[in-house]
Parts: sequence; structure tokens; C-alpha cells
Amino acid sequence: MKSSHAPKPTLAILGKRNLELGPFSDDHGAADAGSWTHWRMRTDEDGTAWLLFDKKDSSANTLSEEVLTELNAILEKLERETPWGVVIRSAKPSGFIAGADIGQFRDVTDTAQIEALLTRGHAVMDRLDRLPCVTVAVIHGYCLGGGLEVALACDYRIAIDDASFGFPEVLLGLHPGLGGTVRLPRLINPMQAMTMMLTGRSERARRARGLRLVDAVTQERHVRAAVRSAVSGEMVRAKQGAMGTVLNSNPARRLLAHRMSSEVAKRAPRAHYPAPYALIDMWVEHGGDAEAMQKAEISSFAKLLVGDTAQNLVRVFFLRENLKALADGKWSGSRVHVIGAGTMGGDIAAWCAWSGFVVTLGDTNPAAIGGAIKRAAELYGKIGRDNSRRVRDSLDRLIPDLRGEGVAGADLIIEAVPENLELKRKIFAGIEPKMKPGAILATNTSSIPLEQLREGSPRPERLVGIHFFNPVSRMQLVEVVSHDQVAADVLSNARAFLGRIDRLPAPVKSAPGFLVNRALTPYLLEALVMLDAGMKKETIDKAAEDFGMPMGPIELADEVGLDICLHVAEMLKASLHRDMPDAPQWLKDKVAKGDLGKKTGKGLYDWKDGHAVKAHEEAEPPPGTIDRLILPMLDACVTCLREGVVADEKIVDGAMIFATGFAPFRGGPMHYARTRGVADVRDTLKRLAEQYGPRFQPDPGWDSLQ
Ligand code: NAD
Repeated sequence: MKSSHAPKPTLAILGKRNLELGPFSDDHGAADAGSWTHWRMRTDEDGTAWLLFDKKDSSANTLSEEVLTELNAILEKLERETPWGVVIRSAKPSGFIAGADIGQFRDVTDTAQIEALLTRGHAVMDRLDRLPCVTVAVIHGYCLGGGLEVALACDYRIAIDDASFGFPEVLLGLHPGLGGTVRLPRLINPMQAMTMMLTGRSERARRARGLRLVDAVTQERHVRAAVRSAVSGEMVRAKQGAMGTVLNSNPARRLLAHRMSSEVAKRAPRAHYPAPYALIDMWVEHGGDAEAMQKAEISSFAKLLVGDTAQNLVRVFFLRENLKALADGKWSGSRVHVIGAGTMGGDIAAWCAWSGFVVTLGDTNPAAIGGAIKRAAELYGKIGRDNSRRVRDSLDRLIPDLRGEGVAGADLIIEAVPENLELKRKIFAGIEPKMKPGAILATNTSSIPLEQLREGSPRPERLVGIHFFNPVSRMQLVEVVSHDQVAADVLSNARAFLGRIDRLPAPVKSAPGFLVNRALTPYLLEALVMLDAGMKKETIDKAAEDFGMPMGPIELADEVGLDICLHVAEMLKASLHRDMPDAPQWLKDKVAKGDLGKKTGKGLYDWKDGHAVKAHEEAEPPPGTIDRLILPMLDACVTCLREGVVADEKIVDGAMIFATGFAPFRGGPMHYARTRGVADVRDTLKRLAEQYGPRFQPDPGWDSLQ
């Protein structure tokens, strides 16, 4: 094969990161020992072949059938012309291998076809495993799913200290499918192996070393020496201790499986999330026999993949990608000014500083700024446990600004003062003359129409809604609210800003409650109606949890804050031409008394240590309870689509999942409606309307969804 003297684009970028790529790093014009679409190979002076994975037209390496077919051809070549050793390394600066190409998992229905595909994939992994020379995976950045399975099929794993390892398949309703379930429990303590696969959690390099998942952790400058030490056999291989053998024995597996299943059941019921149970069952049954385990893995993976849960979770993966793609514009802003250091403003400022922005934080009340900075320090302490430098730098970037001096230099100003039209307008009038040209003015209002907020503004085209949810650091979704005078670049820059702070933008039009609150409110109100009618709060919550919601509506109302729920409900009732139940008087009394939910320790539930105190005995919800709760939410989504508040069903589904946790394994509210049948949903709504009143009358939008 011919050598290429002109640096490849990826290799040129690597200059910055200085990946040690063995003979590819030397500029001696060494000849490639082979070049494929996604792989390249060169041999170093010791006779070790360095195999670089550099997936074409992609910023990350993922495994596809084509990639594995090429790898198979390379391994065949290496079997014939065996080098002294083989190193597998990624040429992508971001990491080793991110996992399988999830696009392959979409809309698959034929288990036999998947089994055949997996069997071919397993044959490649086995071939790598059996190569008659020492194989070493050198890993930087992420090493996930199929990527970790490639690494596990090598004799040695050398991690750069920024590497992280994990099997996130369970989050897609799957378990590892390229031999991971066979190799991991034989390499490390099987309890730890099962925990990694059951939780999908990633482990950083040092911890992976502790688990004996990797043989060495090193830095780029020592990679060549480490490779040499591994290939020569000097490096001691991390092996499972005697405990591993004991825990892998049949009786121990049975005992442990029981415990694992009950742990999993706390988070994921079998009926909704079959994958973790399938993994546990497989390990109990076949954990002692690698060949049987391999067969079981293939057939179980194929069965899970065609199932509803995995298909819907794959759909959710792409819903996220869809929202992410809306944030990929270029916006070069670096300074954010936040006005109002309360619940929202304080947390928005903290999150922006954590994400690299220089943030000035203003408030008329100095104590509010002090409180916000204290909360930021607490948050950083939690999320930055192993990155003290980032914690320090983020705190440095978060600047108290009582006099609002940051306004003039800010690229983005976010207003988060109390929900009061006059107050917000007054603030805009004060800052607009000071803003630099091109700066964006954003409001975090949850309910005031932007058409009213922009009145009197000399630059209405710079005003946009950026509606965060509480708590800002945990809620991934943010609504980007447009109005008919906003400039297109302001909208795309607002979305790009959200991309830079790792949030997902959902574009919505200015309308009462936008999308998320509008869809959530009828659900919460119906729960209050049930409560009023004497149903137990635990029973109502159980109905929603059984459906797959992360928490029930009563608990959610407490979590959001009863004052906020009441405010949104009253606002929606006043501004929508639609039948809605009145908020009960006792709710208003509770709010007046200051019993606001989780934040005050008392609301619909009493709260202790951050948890709602619930009666243990939950009665089974009467049949139809869940329809009464969920269908009004679906109906509001359809109204938003019909009115053009939101552009399409994918955005609705993504927004409801990432803002409210709508049962992800159902693929989103609109997908649920379509799976169940639009006609069935509409007819059920009609029946509910006859039984409980016109608030259930289906929106005319259902008719055009058929
Ligand atoms: P908050 O009462 O907790 O905080 C408001 C802060 O603004 C206070 O610290 C107050 O001192 C300060 N402030 C008042 N007047 C000011 C002025 N003239 N200049 C500067 N600062 C001033 O309110 P919040 O809950 O953070 O809500 C802020 C905005 O965010 C509202 O528009 C609300 O609708 C919206 N929002 C709230 C939530 C929520 O869950 N709390 C969720 C989404 C959106």
C-alpha cells in the first residue's frame, strides 16, 4: 500500500491533543500496511501493527456492519502475516468507540436477521480474541457499548487518564450484544460487571483500573512504553481474583441474581423494562458456560431489540438527536448577564458559569445574590467532585453584580425576576439602551405573552423567551419561545446558546403555557379533581407510576411547587377558551398558608429528607384512572400542534419526555397516541366527556391526525 505524506485532516486536528499514534505519529513517511475505508494500519519499528479506527465522515467512531466487515478482513490478514503485537486505537480526538451505530437498530422487526448480524459480529470479536499475537487496546475518551466489547476482546487494555468505560445499552432497553455479557463477568468481579451492565453507568479510568477492567492507566507520552511493556508480556495483566470464581459459581449466581432483581425492580418494572431482567436471567442460567452465554446473548438481544420498549427507547435517542440538532448553530457569545438571582435566575447563572460562560448576576436584593452563589458552590461540589479546577474556575466566572454593570458587555441577557408584566417591562426599558448591538434579550417568563412584554421596546426583534424548568441543572429541556417580530438569528442563536450549556431546545410559539405547562396542567388538575372526589393521593400517583411516569401528578405538583401550579392553572383558565376544572379552594388556602410542597416541607404530602412521605398501602387505582389523567395531556398536545404552537410531533414527544419524564419506553405522548390508535384515544375522550364533563371533549386536531 502507498504511504500518504500529506497529513490526513483528522491527524492534523490531533496535533492539538497529541494522541500517541505510534508509527502514525512519526513523520518518516512510513508505509501503511493497509488502508480501508474506516481503518488504517502501520507497523512500528518493533514489528507491532498499529490499527487506527477513523470512521469515515463521522466525528465519532461507531460500529456498523461495514466497519466490522472491514475489521474482519484486517484480522484475516493479521492471522496470515502475524505481527509481534497489535494495537487498536481511535484516531478521533473525542474518544475510542462510542458504541454501535444506533441507526442500525431503528425499525427492525426480524429477529432472525438480527441474530445473523450479531453472529457475524461475534465471529469478528472471537477472531480478535484468538489472534495469535498480543493485542492491546489503547483507549482515550469514551469507550462505550460495542467499543468496550472490542476492548474486552483484546488481551490488554491501556487507558489514558481521561478514558471512561460503560455499557449504556440498558438505557436503550437492551444489554450488551457483542460478547460483553460473556467477557465482562469473567474479567472483573461479576457483581461489579452486572452492576455496570444493569445501570449503564460509566466508570472513569482510575476506577476502571481498580475494577481490573484495564491493565494500566497512563498518559499520552507514556503510551509507546506501555504498549511495548504489554506486547513483550512484562505488563502484569489485571485478572479476576478468586472471589470472581466463587461469585460466578452456580449457587452464588442464584443468590446474587435474587438481590439484583429486587434492586432493579425498584427502578424499572419488568413489564416496562425487560432488558435488565433478561440479563440477570441469562447470567443465572448460563454464567458458567461461555459458549451457552454467547448463544443466549445473541438471541436475547435480538428479541429485546424488536420489542416495543427498545424500539421506543431507540426512538427517544433520536428524539434527543433531533432536538440537539436544533442547537448546532454557531453563536460566539461568551458573556451572560442574569437579572434576578432567585430560584431560577440564580440556578441559570450557576449553570451558565459551569458551562464556561462569564456570568454577571444582578438582583435588587444582595442576599438573593449571596444565596445564589452559595447554591452554586453546593451544586458544583456535587457535580464537580472529581474536577476541583472546574469548580474553582466556574465560581470565578460567576460574578455578583448589584449595579448591573454586566449589561453593557453581555452577549445574552436573561431576565428572571418575578412574574409581573409591569416589572419586567420596566427592567427592559432600563437595560435596552445599555445593551450592545447584537446582544440578545431573553425572558424566562412562564406565562406572560411575549407580545405584551415587547410592547414599547425599541428592539422587539432582539427579545426571545428562553424558558427553563426547575431545577435548571437537572431539567434538560428548555423552551425557546418565539413571537412574530423576533429576528431569525436571535432564535437560532438562543438555540445555539442552549447547545453550549448542554440543554435541549424546543422551539415553541408564544401562547399561554407554551407547550409543556399547557400539556401538564390538565393532567395535574384532573389529579386534584380525583383527590377532591375522595380518591387517595397515593392511589392517584400509583396509576401514573404504573403507566411509567417517574412520579405521580400529586407528588409532581408538590415538587414543582403548589404556588407555581396554581398560578399556571389560573393563567391558563383565564386565557384559554376551553373547559378546565377550577383549582380547588383548599389548594388556594394551602398556598396562602405557605404550604407550597417540597420546598416548604409540606404540601399535598409531607416531605422528609427530600422525599414525599407516603402511606405504604396503595389501593389499586379504579379502572380508567390513567385515561382520565393522561388523555387530557395528550389532547393538549394535539391542540398545540393544531394551533402551531409547536411544529411537529417529534418535538412534542421530545419536549414532554425531557421536560416531564413522560414514560420514555412509550416513546412520547404522540407516539403513544398513535400506537394506541388515534381513533381509540378520541373515542375514549368522548366517553370521558359524557361521564365527567366537557373538559374531556377531544380537540378537533385529532381528526387531521388519522
Ligand atoms: P424568585 O422570586 O425566586 O426570584 C426572583 C428574583 O428577582 C428575586 O431574587 C428578587 O429579589 C429579584 N428581583 C425582583 N425585582 C428585581 C429587579 N427590579 N431587579 C433585579 N432583581 C429583581 O422567582 P423565580 O421562581 O426564580 O421566577 C423568576 C421567573 O422565572 C418568573 O418569570 C417565573 O415565572 C419564571 N419561572 C419560574 C419557574 C419556577 O419553577 N420557579 C420555572 C420556570 C420559569
